Amino acid sequence: MDDTAIPTRDELELRLTPIQFHVTQQAGTERAFTGEYWDTTDPGTYHCVVCGTQLFDSETKFDSHCGWPSFYEAREDGRIRYIEDRSHGMLRTEVRCARCDAHLGHVFPDGPPPTGNRFCINSASLNLERRPKSE
Ligand SMILES: [Zn+2]
Repeated sequence: MDDTAIPTRDELELRLTPIQFHVTQQAGTERAFTGEYWDTTDPGTYHCVVCGTQLFDSETKFDSHCGWPSFYEAREDGRIRYIEDRSHGMLRTEVRCARCDAHLGHVFPDGPPPTGNRFCINSASLNLERRPKSE
């Protein structure tokens, strides 16, 4: 998937659902507890829904009770871009896909060990490629 070209905006409007388009292209936020993956525990790799870049692994997903998929670590350095976000009167760190610039969510410094980070990510930005469960 990583070798595919980054889709154009027109292609995305056709391919993505309205919420996927709104979140990734307009930095929107899905409503808590409504996304596809907030309580998913299936093992697998979470890819960018726009360009297919590997972003997170289910091994680092944890239940933060916030209603969005939460991870304590991104899959590899360089896959995620961090942007200072001062909207809504708060200082937050926005996270985007480093390859296609899709909005993913935010990262907060109140996560569990070993990183202490909480990546609060919209389900609509992600596509889970499930692994067969080990016996
Ligand atoms: Zn991407």
